[in-house]
Amino acid sequence: MGTKVLKFGGSSLASAQQFRKVAEIIKSQPERRYVVASAPGKRDSGDTKVTDMLYNCFRLASKKEPIDEAFRLVEERYNSIIRELGLDFSLEEEYAKIRMAISHHAGEDYVASRGEYLNSMILAKYLDFTFVDAENGVFFKEDGTFDDKKTYAALGALLEKEAYAVVPGFYGSMPNGTIKTFSRGGSDITGAIVARAVNAEIYENWTDVSGMLMADPRIVKNPRVIEEITYRELRELAYMGATVMHEEAVFPVKEARIPINIRNTNAPEDAGTMIVPSSLSAGPKSVITGVAGRKGFSSITIEKSKMNTEVGFCRKVLNVLERLGVSFEHMPSGIDTVSIIVSSAAISDKKEDIKARIFRDTYADSVTIDDGLALIAVVGRGMVRAKGTAGKIFSALGQEEINIRMIDQGSGEKNIILGVEEADYERTLQVIYNAFVPEDN
Ligand code: ASP
Repeated sequence: MGTKVLKFGGSSLASAQQFRKVAEIIKSQPERRYVVASAPGKRDSGDTKVTDMLYNCFRLASKKEPIDEAFRLVEERYNSIIRELGLDFSLEEEYAKIRMAISHHAGEDYVASRGEYLNSMILAKYLDFTFVDAENGVFFKEDGTFDDKKTYAALGALLEKEAYAVVPGFYGSMPNGTIKTFSRGGSDITGAIVARAVNAEIYENWTDVSGMLMADPRIVKNPRVIEEITYRELRELAYMGATVMHEEAVFPVKEARIPINIRNTNAPEDAGTMIVPSSLSAGPKSVITGVAGRKGFSSITIEKSKMNTEVGFCRKVLNVLERLGVSFEHMPSGIDTVSIIVSSAAISDKKEDIKARIFRDTYADSVTIDDGLALIAVVGRGMVRAKGTAGKIFSALGQEEINIRMIDQGSGEKNIILGVEEADYERTLQVIYNAFVPEDN
């Protein structure tokens, strides 16, 4: 029997009603053995996440203001869950310890981490699972980076002893024993770490959407859910801003080739999205897997006759950017021109400097910088060797009179990146989506 690791996000554990759904999901399969829990999230749009309430307590304590009222609200969130679940259980002693620690200026990460700590205690009690504190199994190095070797050995050994356990997400310990958190949303990372430590068959990441969508739903009407995506494609869409979970959560499981399944706690019957290594993929069902993009790019275009014969030309240009600390995104080139696409924010106060240095170092004929570029990535392993993909994109955009300012296709043929005017951004996404996805009835 393979082992499944499940991570439940804040909205999945925001109330007693949500706890009931979570328990039903876990208990429906005996291989669902290790559960990573977030702190209670928002119950509705006007609500406050417990993690934010705890950061607020920390801020008050550091200004030497009383925390009683602010901490009472945290206690009330947990007590209402305990009460409504009808549990014979009290966290009063834990509250007293935490309150005392906050007033004695405990570190910010310790205070924030108590959200997952307390929620996991309740969930463990409710499920009748063992509570395994992340403090004893997730470790950071002296420099604050994640200590993978120590963690996998310790956590693997701890969990091996438990048939069923709940581990709080978001935090671990420093070498001196103090608590440190991952960045916000970091319970996703803990889930991936637990999956890796127990060599799970699958990492189920339970949230409040039925998977990753093929396009941004704020722009494209009712986009379809992606059934299966490879880690590589996910990385490309995530780079353009499309995310369903913390980006760093991918690395631990990707290395071990463990698939991730994004699922919806409020619609457990939906299959969600499977994120898999390409070798485990069942093969693409459609030519494109997804389309995503971002505004806010500029192009630096350099022209010089006979550029193509000049050895080291691009190195000189890139050197200028490197010395000014500007990283570049893409570099499409022509015969006597090269364009470098950079984030507009990264060069906003350096434009004149960049131009002057490029002229000085390369004797270019002209250097121009244009803002207002949006980049769009059309991603899909189904595009490899599929004929007519680029043609389909270009004719659809041509029909809509959308001008393409830049094209970049990686030689792996798994993505095509287009640059368009920012004003055309939303329309371009919709047109490309429609060109590949037949309308649902
Ligand atoms: N509770 C933490 C946060 O709000 C971590 C998490 O939910 O993943 O960022």
